[in-house]
Amino acid sequence: MLVSAKEMLTKAKAGHYAVGQFNINNLEWTKAILLTAQEMNSPVILGVSEGAGKYMCGYKTIVGMVEGMIEGLGITVPVALHLDHGSYEGALACIEAGFSSVMFDGSHYPIEENIAKTTELVKLTGEKGISLEAEVGAIGGEEDGVVGTGECADPDECKEIADLGVTMLAAGIGNIHGKYPANWAGLSFDTLAAIQEKTGTMPLVLHGGTGIPADQIQKAIDLGVSKINVNTECQLAFAAATRKYVEAGKDLEGKGFDPRKLLAPGVEAIKATVREKIELFGSANKA
Ligand SMILES: [Zn+2]
Repeated sequence: MLVSAKEMLTKAKAGHYAVGQFNINNLEWTKAILLTAQEMNSPVILGVSEGAGKYMCGYKTIVGMVEGMIEGLGITVPVALHLDHGSYEGALACIEAGFSSVMFDGSHYPIEENIAKTTELVKLTGEKGISLEAEVGAIGGEEDGVVGTGECADPDECKEIADLGVTMLAAGIGNIHGKYPANWAGLSFDTLAAIQEKTGTMPLVLHGGTGIPADQIQKAIDLGVSKINVNTECQLAFAAATRKYVEAGKDLEGKGFDPRKLLAPGVEAIKATVREKIELFGSANKA
């Protein structure tokens, strides 16, 4: 059964570790992440962007796949199915389809409009026991077509949104989506500390977890980050392993063209990436 992210993140914040959100793209991704979380006895959040939602034939298809897999694979660790960077309409569609968690990214709206729409969603998700993530201050990089400028969020605006009753809050602290450029300045810990100061027990979310050095991740967790999103890193690992298989000519040997064989190295690579992140975030054995 899918669960809201509220309890796992409240525990993470109190226990000074973070729960990983790993974005899914298909059956192989989902299976690799669920099996690894189970192996490591870690809670897990499966992230779905609106683009990935379309790719996987709609939110209902995804709910069916994930719920079926939890049962079929005997997954007992807490699993939240979460809309990543949702529009207002996307959030409504996911609430309807059976997601257990949604993000409404109103960071590109003026703060008043972000507050109005977030308030509406606090009510709707609250009625159904669904967790809600809000965002303040655009997070840079490409997120399904939404390009931010990598700003740092205003701590007062963070408090305003947190006080609406959201479950968790994403705030720009110099992090960006996708691969980090060589001249990246690093996370702004002053901003994070100021946000943490204003928002208290609210679990904070760090987006763009790919390529942030381990020591910065650790410091971010110490300063109140309890959810870390990982997407690109699994994609890079999957692509590299698949490339290696094909370049070694394995698809031409025997039944190496069988998709169950062709996709297997990529699945193993995702598992290894997720395992490494769960260790780094400290959520192993916290299920
Ligand atoms: Zn993000």
